[in-house]
Amino acid sequence: MKREKELSPEDKMGELVSLCKRRGFVFQSSEIYGGLTGFWDYGPLGVILKKKICDHWWESLVYRRDDIVGLDSSIIAHPKVWEASGHVECFHDLMVDCKECKKRFRTDQVSGDKCPECGGELTTPRQFNLMFQTHVGPSSDTQSLSYLRPETAQSIFTNFKNILASSRQKLPFGVAQIGKAFRNEVTPRNFIFRSREFDQMEMEYFINAQESKRWFDYWVQDRFNWYMELGIKKEKLRLRPHSKDELAHYARECVDVEYNFPFGWQELEGIADRGDFDLKQHINCSKKDLTYYDDETKERFIPAVIETSAGVDRTFLTVLVDAFHVEELENGEVRNLLSLNPKLAPVEVAVFPLVKKLREPTIKLERELKKEFKTFYDEKGAIGRLYRRQDEIGTPYCITFDFQSLEDNAVTVRDRDTMLQDRVPIEKLKDYLGERLK
Ligand code: ATP
Repeated sequence: MKREKELSPEDKMGELVSLCKRRGFVFQSSEIYGGLTGFWDYGPLGVILKKKICDHWWESLVYRRDDIVGLDSSIIAHPKVWEASGHVECFHDLMVDCKECKKRFRTDQVSGDKCPECGGELTTPRQFNLMFQTHVGPSSDTQSLSYLRPETAQSIFTNFKNILASSRQKLPFGVAQIGKAFRNEVTPRNFIFRSREFDQMEMEYFINAQESKRWFDYWVQDRFNWYMELGIKKEKLRLRPHSKDELAHYARECVDVEYNFPFGWQELEGIADRGDFDLKQHINCSKKDLTYYDDETKERFIPAVIETSAGVDRTFLTVLVDAFHVEELENGEVRNLLSLNPKLAPVEVAVFPLVKKLREPTIKLERELKKEFKTFYDEKGAIGRLYRRQDEIGTPYCITFDFQSLEDNAVTVRDRDTMLQDRVPIEKLKDYLGERLK
């Protein structure tokens, strides 16, 4: 028997952050120099989980459909892109500084005119642009000023004609992209939830404006379902439509997918009906023709677009928060458990010898399984401890090779969630695991 250990929201986040560091999911960037606020590094296990999340997105949008193609564009684009998109003029947060402790806060995150940290007096609100600036080429003047992209989507619009011409897509069709985005967030917080460098998974679905409502509803549902496919608990997810006064100036409708984190309901993804705003802006600024010709109706027009914009790091955090438990076992032991969807587990099968003497045949078995599964061999510790280590990183199955295995050619397979054990013939092992993991 086992019992879920109740943790306060702060303790749950604290335990998870410490697990991420201890087991190699996420490290603070530049830690040996004291860290850099808002930047994170993904360690050996984290990088696998992150890639699996991206692959799952890419597969569901690009590989399994005919109407969406991919793009991988540069992080730095012509500065005019960000003038046309409105980011140079509008991508600001209203900020206040504390006159005492000099800390800076987003105006919408403080109530009253006293510093939330030290009680000092705050300055009047000022605008603060969130784009990181850099210079392209040897001179650092206003001519060479450029920006690290604050979102991946704009290059989809600037490449609209290229993609149309090269992929022979017809409306409705989409363009998907995964990549880095940078925002000089004033108050990075909640671990990797809000950082200054992050990855986005964005898709622009081009349509005839008359079909906006239908496609908007379709994408809201499709994207909500995607999080459930990842194994996220349905009751922790919700859709939140933006109110009229919350909508960005270009958006006609917007719904956020939100998750109930230990620090409250927060946005994972926005689905927005952007009308023809972006293509129109780039037509006006570049003076290039970004219209679409419909050869059935013989009409030329600017397509409208439904955007789905998700964060990889926020999904990563959601997957971990949703899967993380601490359990009290009957024998008084406590185990940390990541009940990850097996598809996402960084290690799928761990293989141990009961004693080190059985190393040779165990490694042979592990090598064989490695051809099909992400495996990990460990012999450093008693079996109970080896199990605990794998439970904590979400490994769905642990296999133990014991003395009897030498005689009956079977091994013990232990299930992470139920902790129940099965005796499985080695020749049936790949099928047994395949059925449960794939
Ligand atoms: P927020 O209101 O939380 O700042 P936003 O509405 O500005 O987010 P969008 O511009 O819609 O976010 O970006 C799309 C997605 O990119 C977000 O839903 C989120 O998953 C991700 N994202 C945006 N900013 C960050 C950040 N600073 N750190 C991590 N992910 C982010």
